[in-house]
Parts: sequence; structure tokens; C-alpha cells
Amino acid sequence: MTTESLTLVRFGGEVFIKARRTRSAFMARLRDNVRDALSGDDGPPDVELGWDRLYVRSPDGPLPALARVFGISSYSPIDIVVPATLEDIVEAGGRVFADRVRGRTFAVRARRAGRHSFSSHDVQVGLGSRLIEGSAGVDLGDPEVAVHVEVRDDRAYLYSQRVTGAGGLPLGVEGRAITLLSGGFDSAVAAWLMLKRGVAQDYVFCNLGGDAYERAVVQVGKVLADDWSYGTRPRLHVVDFAEPLDALRQGSRERYWQVVLKRLMYRAASLVGQELAADAIVTGEAVGQVSSQTLPNLRAIEPAADLPVFRPLIGFDKQDIIERARHIGTAVLSEQVKEYCAIAPGKPVTAAAVAAVEREEAAIDLEVVARAVAQRRVLDLRALTPADLVAPYLFIDHVPDDAVVLDCRPQHQYRHWHLPGAEQRDEYELLQRFNKLDRDRRYVLYCAHGIQTAHIAETMQRAGYEAYSFRGGADGVRRWAAAGKAPQGR
Ligand code: ATP
Ligand code: MG
Repeated sequence: MTTESLTLVRFGGEVFIKARRTRSAFMARLRDNVRDALSGDDGPPDVELGWDRLYVRSPDGPLPALARVFGISSYSPIDIVVPATLEDIVEAGGRVFADRVRGRTFAVRARRAGRHSFSSHDVQVGLGSRLIEGSAGVDLGDPEVAVHVEVRDDRAYLYSQRVTGAGGLPLGVEGRAITLLSGGFDSAVAAWLMLKRGVAQDYVFCNLGGDAYERAVVQVGKVLADDWSYGTRPRLHVVDFAEPLDALRQGSRERYWQVVLKRLMYRAASLVGQELAADAIVTGEAVGQVSSQTLPNLRAIEPAADLPVFRPLIGFDKQDIIERARHIGTAVLSEQVKEYCAIAPGKPVTAAAVAAVEREEAAIDLEVVARAVAQRRVLDLRALTPADLVAPYLFIDHVPDDAVVLDCRPQHQYRHWHLPGAEQRDEYELLQRFNKLDRDRRYVLYCAHGIQTAHIAETMQRAGYEAYSFRGGADGVRRWAAAGKAPQGR
């Protein structure tokens, strides 16, 4: 006996109302996605496409990832496979399920495809009478245990468990969209709803606020990519929005910033979308959730996009969205995203007229957006490792104005020279006690070479702090200060 296990996978009902050719394409796509989902160190499992089922043979037992493959209505781990004879079925079924039906009501449900000398009814009667002793009797309507027998050609598959699948359509059968991903609750849930409908996605993130924000968004994107995107290789396009933001501040009136900024993001998504031949843009907007999402504002924002804009959450309440985010697995990360409202005007316009918004935007040279998009970084979300999630964000080349600077070298070196304003901390003590520090501040750490403090910064980041190690350690800090970049009074 091998420990190999067999699982029967059922397609979502919508697959069967499609025309034959579409249906085969959907089923083949689902088979490939299941292979991807269950691919382990030994490569993909053996997945056989039946007429209306998939049969998955895998070496390591239960398959939790199956519950996250879209297009599956349910699946059942097979308890035993036997030759398709009535005697074999009754004998094996009696043996395997006697314990499971003991003291409980049960029903035997049989289905048959192929030529056999017995009917499904014979199976139900034969196995039913074998199991009845010790059980609480047969209940065909609402049994506590349903014993299933599927006879297909020369084999019979017996099982009693049925796990509900994720539903929806196989990912990839409904084209590609560009999703504007901000790291908050909404856009991740919006992306998920589109993934569920078979739409493959790349994500565009417009970075307004530095490394810590980007890292959080990457983590959110990674949950969508790792857990819900089997069969695709989603990428995150990180667009540095510092320049567009500057242009916005200079060009348009403050009341319009929110709305015009959103237009610039739609433009960035459109440019990426054109490059990738995407068919749509997806956002997490919902009517009235924030002031930029009133109907008039959505209307004023929309024309900036060259592709249709889909908003799967348009009619959702916030609480519903957050609950869905918990199920998806992004909520714990989104909670930590410090909503970066680098521009938070006091009273944004709530009913912007299209013409007025267009006038405000006209003052901005849209080349800044094209340039930012051309210079974007593209991350293969599934290929990123935990180290990648931390390492690129550990080092910093400057000290932000509001940062707390901790010099982690020995006392005598600190006395000899330190960055004005820096506090001295013992490395070891800092590692033990950083959780006493104010979580709302940013920290820049340096030691002799910046290596030990990289370790501390990493530990602090994992605990939710925004902490960096200065690249090049104390020498790096000194060079940066000497170049006159340190603010006065430090
Ligand atoms: P979310 O919870 O997704 O952050 P929100 O309720 O905070 O949304 P807004 O900040 O107005 O609302 O954003 C609305 C939508 O615009 C987001 O759902 C997302 O699709 C897009 N968006 C907002 N900020 C960014 C950004 N920095 N980069 C990419 N897309 C963004
Ligand atoms: Mg947001």
C-alpha cells in the first residue's frame, strides 16, 4: 500500500451550461490550475480529466489548497477504489464505512457510468443492507452520513466526505485586468472577487509614501498571488508617485487633489494595461465610502481611464468587506497598512464637476505619469521569498526629518562622533527592549557597518515597527551628514 491519496474534484455548475468547446477549455484550465495549486517538491500531482470530474492523485494526503482553486464547487477525498463489481463494492464499503455509520443515520448514494451487470440501485440496496446493522437506520432525506459510490467503467470510487470549494470560474478563462492595489481592505477584496470570476490580474501600486508602505502592499499582493492565483503569475508594478504628487501639488487647487490624484492613478493603470493588453481596470471603490467616492467624483475620475473601470465592491458595506478580507487572509495585513494619505486636504470637493476636474488636471504635465510608469519596478509576487520581503526595505540612505536615530555602537565611539540628535543604545538591549519604543515613530539605526543594525531593524519590522539600518553604517551616516543633507539642529 502506498500512502498516495485520490481526490475527486467537481466543477462549478456554471461550467456545464457553457457550449461544448468553452466547457472543454474551462475544464482543461481548471486541471492546469489544480496542478499548479498542488505542485510540491516532487512536481505537480497527477490530475486526470474525467467527463465531469477531475481525479487528483497526490502523494501527501489531504489537499487544503484545493479549497482555494476557483472553479471547483466541491471535492471529496476518496476512501477506497475497488474493481467495479457489486461484490467488491459491498465488501469494501462494508469494511470502510461500518465505523462511520455506527449509531448514526445514513444513506448510500450511487452513480454509474459505463457498462456493468448491476445498476446504481443494486449498489444502494446491496451496500445499504450491509451497513444497516449497528447504524441508526437509513435516512434518504437528511442522513448524518452519506456514503457515495461512483462507478466509472472498471473502477468504483467510495467516499463519504464532501468539502465545499471556492466556486466561481477557473482563473484565467476570463482575460486579464489591471487592479489598482493600495494595501487597504478594499482593493484586495475587489481583486479577489475578480479572481473568483476567472479574471487574471496584475497589480499597480502607486507609491506615495516610502518603503514601509510599499512593503505592506507587497505582502497583501503576495497573499492574493500565493493563495488565490493558482495557474497565473501575478506581478506587482510599483510606480513611484513622488513626482506626479509634486506636480499635483503645484498644478492644482487643494480641494481637487484627491480627485485629480485618483485620475493620475487611473492613467498609470491604463498605461500598464495597454502594455499588457489588459481588458479592464479594477478598483476597490464603493459608493460613498470616502469623499472621493461620491457618484459625482467617481464620474469625474472615470474619464481618465482608457479602459473600462470595474468596481466589484460598489454596493458593499465596509463591515462586509472587512469580513471578506478576513476570509481571504489579507485583513491582518491591511489592518497594519498606515493609510498613507500623503496629501490630506481638509475639505476635499465632494461633487466635482467633470469640466472643473479636467481644468485642474490640465495644469499638470501628464508626462510625469508616463515617466513614472516607464520607470516602475515589476515584482513577480509568487517568486518573492520572505527574505525578499524584508531585505530590500531594511536599508536607508538618508535620515527622514521625523525619524528617531539610534546609534548602536559602543559608548566610546558614540562619544567620539555621532550624528547630532542620535541617541546611543546598546545593540543587545535594543533587541530585547525595542517593544517599549513608540510604535508611531520611524527609526533609523546605525552601527559600525550597518549589518548588526540591519538584523535589529528586521526584527523590529517583523514586530510592526518602521525601522531601517543606515546603509554603510556609521561611515555612511557621516558621509551623508558631511554632504550637508542632515537637517540643521540635529
Ligand atoms: P482601499 O481600502 O483599497 O485602500 P480606500 O477605501 O482607502 O480603498 P481610496 O484610498 O479612495 O479608498 O482608494 C480607492 C481605490 O483606489 C482603492 O481601492 C484602490 O483600488 C485605488 N487606490 C487608492 N490608492 C492607491 C494607491 N496608492 N495605489 C494604487 N491604487 C490605489
Ligand atoms: Mg486606501
